[in-house]
Amino acid sequence: MSVLPGMRYPAWRGLIEHYRDCLPVTDDTPVVTLHEGATPLLPALKLSAALGGGVEVHLKCEGLNPTSSFKDRGMTLAVSKAVEEGARAVICASTGNTSASAAAYAARAGIRSVVLVPNGEIALGKLAQGMMHRAMVLAVEGNFDTALELVRRISDAHPIALVNSVNPYRIEGQKTAAFEICDQLGRAPDYQAMPVGNAGNITAYWKGYQEYLKGGIVKAAPAMMGFQAAGAAPIVDGTPVSDPTTLATAIKIGNPASWVTAVAARDESGGLIERITDRQILDAYSLLAATEGVFVEPASAISVAGVIALNERGHFRPGDCIVCILTGHGLKDPDRAIAEAPEPKVVPADVDAIVGEILS
Ligand SMILES: *Cc1c(COP(=O)(O)O)cnc(C)c1O
Repeated sequence: MSVLPGMRYPAWRGLIEHYRDCLPVTDDTPVVTLHEGATPLLPALKLSAALGGGVEVHLKCEGLNPTSSFKDRGMTLAVSKAVEEGARAVICASTGNTSASAAAYAARAGIRSVVLVPNGEIALGKLAQGMMHRAMVLAVEGNFDTALELVRRISDAHPIALVNSVNPYRIEGQKTAAFEICDQLGRAPDYQAMPVGNAGNITAYWKGYQEYLKGGIVKAAPAMMGFQAAGAAPIVDGTPVSDPTTLATAIKIGNPASWVTAVAARDESGGLIERITDRQILDAYSLLAATEGVFVEPASAISVAGVIALNERGHFRPGDCIVCILTGHGLKDPDRAIAEAPEPKVVPADVDAIVGEILS
């Protein structure tokens, strides 16, 4: 690739190149990348102060990945390996972000993508992405769990690669987020808070932290704190939910595929998995945008809602370092933002009228 004279090619070439030694790739793997990863870890200054008690909260902004969610970390590896293995097409079930990511990486690789989404239940931004990347978008008359069951049966019987997080390469790619957090902090956090839907991501983070621990790169791993929406909390309940409900569509899942490994991450790390109401999610969603300047989708705000709830119960001690995983960007779900925030006020094209409004 040619580079303009005087311009240095950016040093970051995606997470596969950066963490190659820790990933199942060889020199023969065709790397399909949109230079995902290297997302910001922001100190949450207002939130830390508001919590009191000397805790230090950081925000891992995974919505700054190429398709605006963490799914890109798993997808770069899953699609690279699918292409290496000769696949001409990929398929997934999705609450939205997996389909957006699969569609983008398939377009990049020049292969087809087929995505099954629950009819009428995916956020507008996510649907638009899949359509623009020319995925075959099929809206299934059923929920996410039904769609996942269908794509598993289809990929078992046909030569089309399944790129849901039941694909182990997805977990391998996503574990790099734990590496990045440790690299950015210079240590592992004491606590990590995150949403739990199909539970692939909590599984991946825990794998990443354990690998850094075993490699002697960090001296401790965080307690993993997972949060599920109150109407879609199968792991908290200990039983599948047949009709999950929540406005956080990315975690509206009643029977998580990675259930067992999520429980292992919780128990081995001395963590917890708890439920958070939609009201608590929306409060954290608005707070993050209004006071930290960070706009996330509702499912991501559950990380912060969970920390606020635990803090009220006196869960943390002074000096504790907490990382909240913000899994997806707020623009994914513009309808929710418009429903939550005050509407613009219409004014005449007149200086006095506008100044009057500003001073009112
Ligand atoms: C996929 C997704 C989740 C849930 O992740 P799981 O690995 O399914 O637990 C949470 N938030 C966002 C924004 C997502 O896209």
